[in-house]
Amino acid sequence: MALSEVTCANCSSKSNQPVKETPEVNGSPDLDLRPAPDRRQTMSQWVQECPTCKLMCPDLANPPAGAGEALKHPDYVTMAADKKALPLVRKFRAWAYVAEKAGQYDDAGFAHLHAAWVADDAKDKSLADMQRHMAVMHLAQARDRGRVYPRQKGAAEALLADVHRRMGRWDEAIHEAERGKSVTDQPFIDALCDYEIALATKHDAAVHTTNEVP
Ligand SMILES: [Zn+2]
Repeated sequence: MALSEVTCANCSSKSNQPVKETPEVNGSPDLDLRPAPDRRQTMSQWVQECPTCKLMCPDLANPPAGAGEALKHPDYVTMAADKKALPLVRKFRAWAYVAEKAGQYDDAGFAHLHAAWVADDAKDKSLADMQRHMAVMHLAQARDRGRVYPRQKGAAEALLADVHRRMGRWDEAIHEAERGKSVTDQPFIDALCDYEIALATKHDAAVHTTNEVP
């Protein structure tokens, strides 16, 4: 893994952090946009951690405003030091906390969704459901502010439908997918929402990929 020296904007200490790679992707992403396996391996590069002040965010040189305050909060200190948590879950949860305190609900929502993927791989269903619950709360708030896929009408709703469906919340999944259909102007998103409705109607909470969309 390639490393580069980064200066933490919060405490000015320097540390070596992994460089985020974007490898060629073979295969389709899951319906919640989890990348195909080639790119999944890069997840450990998505959140940097300052070894001195314990700030966790995608780029220590450019944290959100107020990050320094957020990481002094006892909840953050506990989360950052949680040795029992899966290492990547610990990082994604800490980043979600910093993002939420900065009002970046889209980033907070995606960070919880990424933590859910790690929990899926660890076969920890209750942790995955808890992280998806946090993800939909923040992503819905961000969607209401036009912050989730602002240039693709209906894409936020398709994503929310999938996150609800994976938790077995069929009514919420169908509601979001119908809402997506009512606002989108893109045939693919319309078809994606139809597929979510069909899966939710069958009570199918499994992983499905975008290339299955009829
Ligand atoms: Zn620092």
